[in-house]
Parts: sequence; structure tokens; C-alpha cells
Amino acid sequence: MNSGESEATEQGLVLLGVLGDPIKHSKSPLMHKIALQAAGIEGDFVPLHVKPDQLEDAMKGIRAMHFRGVNVTIPHKVEVMKYLDEIDEGARLIGAVNTIVNDNGRLKGYNTDGIGYVRSLKEETSVDLKGARIAVLGAGGAARGVIHALLEEQPESVIILNRTRDKAEQLALEWTTEAIPVRGYSNEDAKNVLATVNVLINTTSVGMSPLSDELPLETSLIPEGIIVSDLIYNPLETRLLRESREQRGCTVHGGLGMFVYQGAVAFEYFTGVVPAVEQMRAAVLSSLS
Ligand code: NAP
Repeated sequence: MNSGESEATEQGLVLLGVLGDPIKHSKSPLMHKIALQAAGIEGDFVPLHVKPDQLEDAMKGIRAMHFRGVNVTIPHKVEVMKYLDEIDEGARLIGAVNTIVNDNGRLKGYNTDGIGYVRSLKEETSVDLKGARIAVLGAGGAARGVIHALLEEQPESVIILNRTRDKAEQLALEWTTEAIPVRGYSNEDAKNVLATVNVLINTTSVGMSPLSDELPLETSLIPEGIIVSDLIYNPLETRLLRESREQRGCTVHGGLGMFVYQGAVAFEYFTGVVPAVEQMRAAVLSSLS
């Protein structure tokens, strides 16, 4: 990856930001400012409130104001792709961009959500994903990034369960291969297909605050002792994770690490420097509690 020197302001500052609508609650500025500081890089990371009809102008602004890079969040991850000069192969397959790097006016889009998720899962649970039998709940945008990155780890198989069966089947059809079968099911099939999985990942928004009493799946259907992961980080431990741990003896993994690592991978793309992940995590954690 190129160093931040290839695009900086006249003063040599590395300007970074996050672009979304709404944006004021984003934890990205806090997290990246800590990373810049820890790396001794002079610069800033700012929240950028951009409405959908201003997205094209915003991309011109990134070039004109010599931003080195930006993260992109809801609702622009798909739409922004048409204003970029180049899209990384992974982001193209996922169909969404969350990170843009500006190399002397040339904007390239990446997707670090899935890579960030898998890094976090491996670091925090020590799971060996090679040969794993994985179940993913949900077939939305986050599921696409996560499944794409999981397939790179060569699991034995992936099954996708979704409220809307069609979406799970479509996604499975798109990514199944002879080497790694991917199959789609409806949530109602859970009791017939979950018995042999050893990693289960919730990528739906079910269980997120303020509806934190909700479960994406009946806990009794979860095989005992497996790894259960949830992309949600508010609450830090969802009801799914709590009950999997208490009632099924599972190892659990929450979504905070995904958020931190998608930012860490983006930071590496922006600056060429591996950031201080633990300091980033601590900053986000203290702002949440
Ligand atoms: P999305 O594209 O809107 O997809 C939502 C998914 O959840 C769909 O599969 C949808 O099923 C399912 N769903 C929603 N409400 C449901 C309900 N009441 N019952 C059953 N299924 C339901 O959203 P997304 O962008 O993928 O985000 C999903 C979750 O991931 C959110 O909670 C988000 O906060 C989290 N996330 C976390 C991180 C992180 O850094 N930790 C990053 C990205 C996303 P249908 O297809 O049937 O509608």
C-alpha cells in the first residue's frame, strides 16, 4: 500500500474523514484520531455530513481538498462506487465500498468490513476457519462482506439463513463453488440444518438496541460448545451471545472488534502504517460505556 505522502495538504497534513448521512454519532473520528496520534502522523479525521444528492460533489471535494482517504457509511456504500476511478476486486464482488484512498486525485474504493470481521474473529476466538462449517444468519449488505472474507479462509461449507429465503438462495448461488458449497435457506429451516455447524454468525440487525430483547434464532437450536458471533456491538453482548454462552456453553464474539478492525485495515490503506488497535478499541469502548 502507498504511504500517506502521496496525497497530503500543502502543510504535509494527512486529512482523513468519514462520510455518511447521518454522521454525528459515528465513532470513526475518535478511533482514527487516536490511531494518527499513536502513529505520530500529523493530520486529522473528520465527520463529513453528505446527503445522497451531494455525493458526486463530495467526491470532487475529496480530490480538491487533498483528503488522503475517507471511510464511507450508510447510505452511500453502494452509490459511491459510480464516482470512483477504480474499485478493488473484493469490493466489486461484495458490491459495496467502505474505504476510499486518494492517490494524487485518483480515487480507489475498497471494502474492509469483511476482512476486518474475519481478523477480529480469528484474533478474539482463535478459531481455525479452514475446514469450518459456518452458518450465517442474514443476507444483507454486511453478510455479503463477511461471507466474501470467510470464503477466503477455505471453510468446508457455508449456509445462509434469512427471513426472506430468496435473498439467501440468490447469494448462495452467486458464491457457491465446487470446493466450498454455499447454500441458502429460510429461517424456518434452522432446526434441520444447524446441527453440524461449528461457527454461527448473526449478521441481521435483530437484537440491536433498543430492541435488545429480540433473538434472531431460538437459542435451543444452537449446537453446544460452538463459536457464536454477532456483528452487533450495541449492546456489546447481545441476548443471542449471552444465552449461547450461558445455556449452550458457546464461545462468543461481539461486533466491536469488527468495527475496530475495519477501521484498522482502512487506516493501513490510508497511511501504510499498522495502527494501535488496542488503543483504538479502548477509545471506542470507553465512549460506548
Ligand atoms: P441490511 O442490509 O439491511 O440487512 C439486514 C438483514 O437482517 C437482512 O438479512 C434482513 O432480512 C435481516 N433482518 C432485519 N430485520 C429482521 C427481522 N426483524 N427478523 C429477521 N431478519 C431480519 O443491514 P446490514 O447493513 O447488513 O447490517 C446488518 C447488521 O450488521 C446491523 O445490525 C449492523 O449494525 C451490523 N453491522 C455491524 C458492523 C460492525 O462494524 N460491527 C458493520 C456493518 C454492519 P430480510 O432480507 O428478510 O429483510
